[in-house]
Amino acid sequence: MRPLPAEIPPPLPAGLPARLASDHAIFLFLDYDGTISEITPDIANAAPVPGVRDLVALLAARPERFRIALISGRQTRMLARLFGIINGVTLVGNHGLEIMDPQAGPRLTVEPALLMPALDAVRDWLRRNVPCEAGFVIEDKHLSVALHYRLADPDLASRLRRRLSEFVEHIPELVIGEGKMVIEVLSRHANKGEAVRALMRESGQARLAVYFGDDVTDEDAFWALRDTGMTVKVCKEPSPSWAKYRVSSPFEVTSAMAEMEAATRTDRR
Ligand SMILES: [Mg+2]
Repeated sequence: MRPLPAEIPPPLPAGLPARLASDHAIFLFLDYDGTISEITPDIANAAPVPGVRDLVALLAARPERFRIALISGRQTRMLARLFGIINGVTLVGNHGLEIMDPQAGPRLTVEPALLMPALDAVRDWLRRNVPCEAGFVIEDKHLSVALHYRLADPDLASRLRRRLSEFVEHIPELVIGEGKMVIEVLSRHANKGEAVRALMRESGQARLAVYFGDDVTDEDAFWALRDTGMTVKVCKEPSPSWAKYRVSSPFEVTSAMAEMEAATRTDRR
């Protein structure tokens, strides 16, 4: 288990993304919601922020300089629908449980049969305990289940979260993940940190990991990369994080990506 973060990261220094991109081959990890897409109540249709898709395509077209993975709590097929498939871009879904490689196709990092009975018990609990029509949205992601409460009464949501956490505490295969206006029931054996480690190992070539993320589940990746990567938390209000730096919006994420793109475009080595 990683410890809780205590320090507030400083702002991302101007020019650092450009410098790193000209000095290293990069493995760029991008969370989706809140990082390259604005948080919206309409979770099924969260669109990427303007310009980011073109930037990802430009960077992915230079595989000797950039490898790119989108890494999200969403299912990979949902990510593919919202962002579109781009040649060379790996999609990591369900917080690291699903990896969809551009060449090799989709694979799972845990055996689903080991999780299903436990997840079925959670599905059943949610069916019995979540009031219909009260602003809650249950998102069943097959290998995890999320309860969104962006539109629900805050007191009711907080009571329900506590009860769900208590229920899941007794299930050894599962763990609770708290995100932005969402509580998720996840496999204990997969998280974004493990996924990042696996992809870095498999990538073969020495690359610097650069990771942008905004959520609690991204902390596992920030922690995994704390000695070796450039990690950036996306947050309007600065808060403690294992990330090395912070930016305040998805717009600043795209600016950093544009910096990296421009720095390597003129690089003729
Ligand atoms: Mg996010």
